[in-house]
Amino acid sequence: MPVRYKDYYESLGVPRTASEAEIKKAFRKLAREFHPDVAKNKKQAEERFKEINEAYEVLGDPAKRKKYDELGPNWQAGAEFRPPPGWESTFHRGRPSPGRGARGEEFDFQFGGTGFSDFFEQLFGARGRPGAGGFGGDFGEGDSGGGRGRDIEGDIMVTLDEAMHGSVRSVSIRHSVRCEECGGTGRRGRQVCPACGGTGQVQKTETYQVKIPPGVTEGQRLRVAGRGELGAGGGEAGDLYLRVRLAKHPDFSVQDHNLIYETEVAPWEAVLGAKITVPTLDGKVDIRIPAGTQSGQKLRVRGRGLPQKGGDHGDLIVETRIEVPSRVSDSEKKLWEQLARESGFNPRD
Ligand SMILES: [Zn+2]
Repeated sequence: MPVRYKDYYESLGVPRTASEAEIKKAFRKLAREFHPDVAKNKKQAEERFKEINEAYEVLGDPAKRKKYDELGPNWQAGAEFRPPPGWESTFHRGRPSPGRGARGEEFDFQFGGTGFSDFFEQLFGARGRPGAGGFGGDFGEGDSGGGRGRDIEGDIMVTLDEAMHGSVRSVSIRHSVRCEECGGTGRRGRQVCPACGGTGQVQKTETYQVKIPPGVTEGQRLRVAGRGELGAGGGEAGDLYLRVRLAKHPDFSVQDHNLIYETEVAPWEAVLGAKITVPTLDGKVDIRIPAGTQSGQKLRVRGRGLPQKGGDHGDLIVETRIEVPSRVSDSEKKLWEQLARESGFNPRD
């Protein structure tokens, strides 16, 4: 099943030569505009948000960007994508299950509703990396009769809001299911079942409700039991695993269960102390900048991070960055000059 090429540079509106900083800046601007929490047309914004996130997931990661760039600049967005020569090995999708018919067809999963495109899955998903996850071993040797079906692994994009509160997502997947025409026997009377060609299985797109529990973390695998590939010869189905990929947030980054928020403070706020308002995932909070705060200092707001096992929450960590005015009025300048004369402070002492 071919997938459609994605032009990630186009998604972020940056040239292919863009620097890391430019890419980050473009992402933050777009993510803020299309974040489902703030946008007016939520459905439309959600689609765009996913696209932006996927693009940044790739272009914001030097290794992934390099791999993506190796495809070359001549692909058109939406073009039917087939890996160029020499890439085949990277697109390995597991060995055919023994006893699964003589056709030896390649496995091909198509996902929907995970927040990632099939193009992304093919290039960067678990099944795009040979040997990843070790699911190839699930076939075992000589399990030609009644072997357990193959597990399937894919990525699922989870927003921080979902990680905070949990959610239920509809995920559709195209995989093998029991042929209803023959009840999985592969035969209709004395004939080979025409619907499945005798394999007892057909490819079908099915939609499942997947529960995202509060407190999921990056890389955590959600197991959906029995939704993998059907086993050969009436064997038990494998499982579906969805690997959590936390969507990048324009304001917060994540460290374990803590949320990191960077805030700018004025020099006088840092010196004199101040009360400022910062966002959390659940509304705003007021925090106190203590007098004598340094640039890069971390202020902790307890319990305003992501949920943890046992019901506790991580913290919101506010990292300060002192920003100086780039222009000052004449009267302000006089005050700074006065300060410079009177102050005994020398930061290089
Ligand atoms: Zn059949």
